[in-house]
Amino acid sequence: MARFDFKRIVEWLSFVLRCPVCGHKYNPERTRIIDTKDEKPQASASLLIHTDCDSCKSSVVFSIAIDGPEIFSIGMVTDLTSQDTSKFKNKNPINADDVLATHEFLKEFNGDFRELLK
Ligand SMILES: [Zn+2]
Repeated sequence: MARFDFKRIVEWLSFVLRCPVCGHKYNPERTRIIDTKDEKPQASASLLIHTDCDSCKSSVVFSIAIDGPEIFSIGMVTDLTSQDTSKFKNKNPINADDVLATHEFLKEFNGDFRELLK
């Protein structure tokens, strides 16, 4: 059985966290848990949460770390949807080789994305 009730934690976070763009309070119904880790035997856990602001429509990903009685959160404004966040959370970051390969590709690319994405 999980030691942490992540659903209750999200409800509480939705109550205390505010949108960094407009200051609007988050709606728990628009807040999704992307990933959780309940680390035993320490009383610690971590959550990755995606939420959309009802007011300004911006999206924020919060990384929450719980260590005993202390809770730390880092929020990042994003254009990712909650589905995108799930998809990309375990992907490697883009590196210099990826950027160079994209540059080389675009140098020769004729600009027809419809043809490319068929
Ligand atoms: Zn907002």
